[in-house]
Amino acid sequence: MALVVQKYGGTSVADIDKIKNTVAKRIIGSRKKGDDLVVVLSAMAGVTDQLVDLAKKVIPAPEGREYDVLVSTGEQVSIALLAMSLEALGQKARSYLGHQVKINTDASFSRARILCIDTKAIKADLEKGRVVIVAGFQGVDEEGNITTLGRGGSDTTAVAIAASLCADRCEIYTDVEGVFSADPGVCSKSRKLNRIAYDEMLEMASLGAKVLHSRSVELAKKYHIPLYVRSTFSDNLGTLVTEESKDMESNVVSGVTYNKSEAKITIRGVPDKPGVAAKIFSALSGANIVVDMILQNVGEKNLTDLTFTVLKNDCKQALKLINPVIKKLGAKDATVDQDISKVSIVGVGMRSNAGIASRMFTALAKEGINMMMISTSEIKISCVISSKYTELAVRVLHDTFNLSEEGTPE
Ligand code: ADP
Ligand code: ASP
Ligand code: MG
Repeated sequence: MALVVQKYGGTSVADIDKIKNTVAKRIIGSRKKGDDLVVVLSAMAGVTDQLVDLAKKVIPAPEGREYDVLVSTGEQVSIALLAMSLEALGQKARSYLGHQVKINTDASFSRARILCIDTKAIKADLEKGRVVIVAGFQGVDEEGNITTLGRGGSDTTAVAIAASLCADRCEIYTDVEGVFSADPGVCSKSRKLNRIAYDEMLEMASLGAKVLHSRSVELAKKYHIPLYVRSTFSDNLGTLVTEESKDMESNVVSGVTYNKSEAKITIRGVPDKPGVAAKIFSALSGANIVVDMILQNVGEKNLTDLTFTVLKNDCKQALKLINPVIKKLGAKDATVDQDISKVSIVGVGMRSNAGIASRMFTALAKEGINMMMISTSEIKISCVISSKYTELAVRVLHDTFNLSEEGTPE
């Protein structure tokens, strides 16, 4: 008998038919095999988006306490409907909101981090043979305020619960059959990966592969939780996210990802002297604005241009914060480009293979795709390009590195 945490995403609980006839029946099947189950749910597909849109009708850039109170409500509906469906099928079940569990987080609204989880109530229910259903994406801060973990955060709820319970595994049920070499919605030749190392998955998730919330992978790696990504709608084996090992497929590049959620800000005519960048980026970090790529050009006459990327959602606030700093420093101005995307290749095999960057750059150049920024780490290379070329770039890079074919283990 195993203790398993299962998470079902929004498309898996999109309507009553799917909740009653697919998810509830799958859960009962797992119970029949003798497993104890904690189930984490997302809101029904589209519901969180609708809630965000409602908030935007009240204020253009909603945020903070009330925003989290609002956007966390979708999960309350789905967990109750699943609990009712299970009870109707003769399976005892009980649903919990984050603060009922309780899932303690810090107080960073809309990007809260889980601090600890009280597992008492869950364990007591499991002992009574109940399936425990927990609302994903939400928690509660020290003062009792509802918090949310960021879009896609239900994956993180599931892994955090699995870690707290020392569960045998965590299964992420979604609308695709696993983790693919590229987003199957964009690249028809993408291939399902049977296994992927935590580090690769972490890079892919952070670089835009939204199949897993990146924090969930971080937690799975830290607490050694085997993570299975698979389809709610088929019995095919999915992808196992696990420790890196020699017998893994040995493609040098494992995946291609893209991310359209960032914007590029360029500050022109910045005095080229010590302390200037520190002033600009301190202003941003003070407001919790995450800066991703940074590029500083060699300038003339002791002036330089400084380019960096932030989330599109943070762009307005970033400008508001840096404009006074620009004035003080005597820099020329700041311009914004929203029509960019970041395309990346990821693979642990890149550590020991030279020439990957030049193959990537040559492939993009052949298609006439200009790279505006480049950044690398041991296991990834990212380029900022014009967003209109995103899908083309993903497909070209997928072909260049033969990702439709499985590499042979060393
Ligand atoms: P859920 O609602 O189940 O959490 P998400 O929409 O968050 O599902 O994530 C699943 C989606 O992630 C897929 O439909 C797919 O389009 C997208 N995706 C992006 N990159 C990848 C990838 N490399 N492998 C699999 N799916 C990916
Ligand atoms: N419902 C939330 C969202 O749409 C959380 C999740 O689905 O993981 O972002
Ligand atoms: Mg998701």
